[in-house]
Amino acid sequence: MKKYDNINTALIHGGVSIDERTGAVNVPIYQTSTYKQDGLGKMRGYEYSRTGNPTREALESLIAELEGGVAGFAFASGMAATAAVLSLFKSGDRILISANVYGGTFRILDKIFNNFGLTYKISDTEDPGSFEKDITPDVKAVLIESPANPLMTVTDIKAISEIAHKHGLLVIVDNTFMTPYLQKPIPLGADIVLHSATKYLGGHSDLVAGLAVVNSKELAEKIAFIQNAVGGVLAPFDSFLLIRGIKTLSVRMDRHVFNAEKAARFLLSNKAVKSVYYPGLENDKGYAVNKKQAKNGGAMISFELHDNYNIRTFFESLELVMLAESLGGVESLVCHPSSMTHASIPEDIRKKVGITDGLIRLSVGIEDIDDILADLAQAIEKSEIK
Ligand SMILES: *Cc1c(COP(=O)(O)O)cnc(C)c1O
Repeated sequence: MKKYDNINTALIHGGVSIDERTGAVNVPIYQTSTYKQDGLGKMRGYEYSRTGNPTREALESLIAELEGGVAGFAFASGMAATAAVLSLFKSGDRILISANVYGGTFRILDKIFNNFGLTYKISDTEDPGSFEKDITPDVKAVLIESPANPLMTVTDIKAISEIAHKHGLLVIVDNTFMTPYLQKPIPLGADIVLHSATKYLGGHSDLVAGLAVVNSKELAEKIAFIQNAVGGVLAPFDSFLLIRGIKTLSVRMDRHVFNAEKAARFLLSNKAVKSVYYPGLENDKGYAVNKKQAKNGGAMISFELHDNYNIRTFFESLELVMLAESLGGVESLVCHPSSMTHASIPEDIRKKVGITDGLIRLSVGIEDIDDILADLAQAIEKSEIK
């Protein structure tokens, strides 16, 4: 599967990267639902586009190579990918999840899979010892995000994987925030990697997509079966767009991170700011573990303003940075986790894990950093309660 050692090259030439028939340097959009068969049982490799489509397969082989896995699968959204992976389990099974998992991941477990007898428990995966104590005989997997937003908590993927495997658990890592350019969970021990490719992989806030990568043939067969049976597949056009986005991942990420490091230091030194959560800062509690397993701290920052600043005014005063759900696009976005991305987490759990009503999440884009900082500064100034 693996063709290129250097990820900068693999992003562009990995997987099935050209059209064998014509030599087209981009795999065409095979906009077809079905395929002519040359006789009964005589297929040319494809039979129906829910089961397989050449454009989707090009993307699936690319993400598998980038993550260092055995096979990749493309879905209509990150949540469709998560749902497919959760469909591996059965009634009576239990999953441990990181305390700060994406709100939608919590919701699908709490409100949907729970109804089918698949239960979950929030586990402090930041602390491997405490995580191990949560492993009861019914626990079959752990689902980690690192960093997990909005508090950017870091989990030691290798340490958790070792403990999990000792107890026969599957290790699932949502790698949306880091991408394989900054962090590769499979070599660290993960069995399955999940992505909301809507975010950095797509990179332009113009599509919704999800990916899953598995590290064994056995898991590949199971997920392929679920993908075809349940059917939440990514369309050929969106597969093409996502391949196009992935080609520029490394250049975009380098700028995202360059800007984020500057933005984090700006916030840290601003007297209006009460706290900054960013694993790229040396004094962040996740810094050391993150440095061990990732190239850098990524480009997502959360922060809180002091009580004499009105966050409503802050959001409304921004002129360049937009208030919106989502992250990872070229444009800088802010959101209010407690009422937006994490609203589906009950208030008592939000309070317990530290998602306060004053928390602001910033997805640092690739605009000129001086313009981003100037906009943050003027909005902070306007929001001071005099
Ligand atoms: C957005 C997101 C998801 C869900 O993905 P969709 O593409 O919106 O369905 C899952 N995990 C994380 C970390 C996310 O940020």
